[in-house]
Amino acid sequence: MDKVDRIKELIEIINDLNYHYYTLDDPKVSDKEYDLLYDELVALEKETNIVFPYSPTQKVGGHIVDKFEKHTHLGRLWSLDKSQSYGDLMNWDNRVKRAINDYNSNNEDKLPPPKYIVEYKFDGLTINLTYRDGILVQGATRGNGIVGEAILPQIKTIKSIPLIIDFKGTIEVQGEGLMPLSVLEEYNKHAAEPLKNARNAAAGALRNLDPKVTEERKLTAFFYNIGYVEGKTFHNHREVLEFLKDNRFPVFPYAKAFDSIEDVIEEIEKLNEERHNLDLLTDGLVIKIDDIRTREVLGYTNKFPRWAMAYKFEAEETTTKLIDVVWNVGRTSKVTPTAILEPVEIGGATVRRATLNNYDDILRKGVRINSRVLIRRSNDVIPEILGTVETDEETFEIEKPTHCPACGSELYQNGVHIFCPNSLSCKPQLVSRLVHFASRDAMNIEGFSEKTAEKFVEELNITDLPEIYEVKYEDLIKLEGFKEKKTNNLLEAIERSKHIPLNSFIYALGINNVGIKTATDLANHFKSLESLRKASFEELITVGEVGEVIANSIIEFFQDERISEAVDKLLAEGVNPYFEEVEVEESIFTNKTVVITGTIEGYSRNEIKDMVEKMGGKVTGSVSKKTDYVIVGENPGSKYNKAVELGVPIVRVEEGKFVISE
Ligand code: ZN
Repeated sequence: MDKVDRIKELIEIINDLNYHYYTLDDPKVSDKEYDLLYDELVALEKETNIVFPYSPTQKVGGHIVDKFEKHTHLGRLWSLDKSQSYGDLMNWDNRVKRAINDYNSNNEDKLPPPKYIVEYKFDGLTINLTYRDGILVQGATRGNGIVGEAILPQIKTIKSIPLIIDFKGTIEVQGEGLMPLSVLEEYNKHAAEPLKNARNAAAGALRNLDPKVTEERKLTAFFYNIGYVEGKTFHNHREVLEFLKDNRFPVFPYAKAFDSIEDVIEEIEKLNEERHNLDLLTDGLVIKIDDIRTREVLGYTNKFPRWAMAYKFEAEETTTKLIDVVWNVGRTSKVTPTAILEPVEIGGATVRRATLNNYDDILRKGVRINSRVLIRRSNDVIPEILGTVETDEETFEIEKPTHCPACGSELYQNGVHIFCPNSLSCKPQLVSRLVHFASRDAMNIEGFSEKTAEKFVEELNITDLPEIYEVKYEDLIKLEGFKEKKTNNLLEAIERSKHIPLNSFIYALGINNVGIKTATDLANHFKSLESLRKASFEELITVGEVGEVIANSIIEFFQDERISEAVDKLLAEGVNPYFEEVEVEESIFTNKTVVITGTIEGYSRNEIKDMVEKMGGKVTGSVSKKTDYVIVGENPGSKYNKAVELGVPIVRVEEGKFVISE
């Protein structure tokens, strides 16, 4: 086959795999197979110097740009009128009905009674994508609704956004770029500079001049509107959403139609609770008229469409008095301020503390003791102090600590943060390092709680990690709460932890910015602790998601003499990190796509799925030409008929074995 044809073929295959992986969350092949195809494409592009703009290789962050160019949207991005109460919604409903009645009494082509669509209003950065001849040619921020900033390289890093679509007319598609809350939480665990909330995280990532930064933030996006389209008309909003899905845009699964505003209000009550379960930040709902012709009749004010309304959930913001600021030292020796607040109810929870990131943050926000502070609670993120409001009380300056609140060592400043240099015997640092070391993804020492760690430090005078392995029965039994059984259990757990998978060990060491995922990538790449310790910067940045920051953390960590000695001591105590390649044996299901239908005696559906996956197969939900086998049990569904129709081989389970029948 001609190389260019193969490139085109690979692009099609990989874009399809990406769609299944990122948008449908239903991967079609193993990561290994994916990597093979991807690598082949990269090699061919390099060899031929031909790179199509819609090639999946263009999804990795490109070059840093100097500034953002302007983009004039083909169709305007409207703001929405906001309602704060159900009364506002009822008034709107009345206006809508009146306009429809007026129209219907003067025209033959009657409008239908209003049908309302309810969708979540997500809190990220609004984006607008332009496709020509099916290819993504521009992506822009909303800006003032008419002109935005062109951020195509940044947008391309969002994995679920299609670079090429089936529809060939010029079209602009509007949506929201978002950082899932779980991603934000994970990011903040290891970030040198934690992000304040999901909205800032998404906006900051998309408006960063370096697309690599955007890529690292692992954004997602959902699309809900078409602002401009050539050669296609829609009758209602549901058709728009179907069209978006057909063209493989990520569309949020919730969008519901209602025939009356009363039903909408009932739904709002429900969603106001349910929104707390979402992995995305939302501050309200959007309610739209479904019928497009009705929309045209209702038209626009100079600011808003008359056919849509935003409903803001009750703001989770309030003010309270700041009583004090306490400084705490953590595992990474960073000393951070926490505001102690007069307890206040916000979003159904009592808030007593809030984060202040660092001393600069305190100064910037003008926060003082006795200040009245404005706080906001975003989903799952610790409340944040936004700023201050006026107060009659006398306020006092918050002093910047010069010495460690725990051990009294003189603190030093690095960038905006302050640190305690005493990592040897500063107790809170030591306690949190021990807790991390013993945690489940790390050394997995069962029964080693935070309380235990405190006792180890305070009563057994443990000063570093390796000393855990020197603790004896006589030491432990003296501690409060330790009887014979508990003592023996803990000693056994400590002993067991010596035999430890390499990735867990790397994670346990507590290298800055190295979470379990990165630790696993490092283990798979280096395969031994020794190679990792010797690794160069150039080699490190080729591993998984390791970037410059993480690579430097790793190098600094192992170059630190004291740390190096501690690692040697751990090994001398008998800690033995091992690495095992996971190999899947060849079987009839290796690299095959398998569908299961009917009940299989003695097994649950999940057990069968596990067995197939262990044998290297991939289980999917529906039968197509790409299905390799259909496993059939009692009372099979239509999938069986489909399989017969397509001639897909049937597999039955006989005495715990898979047997290909016809
Ligand atoms: Zn200290």
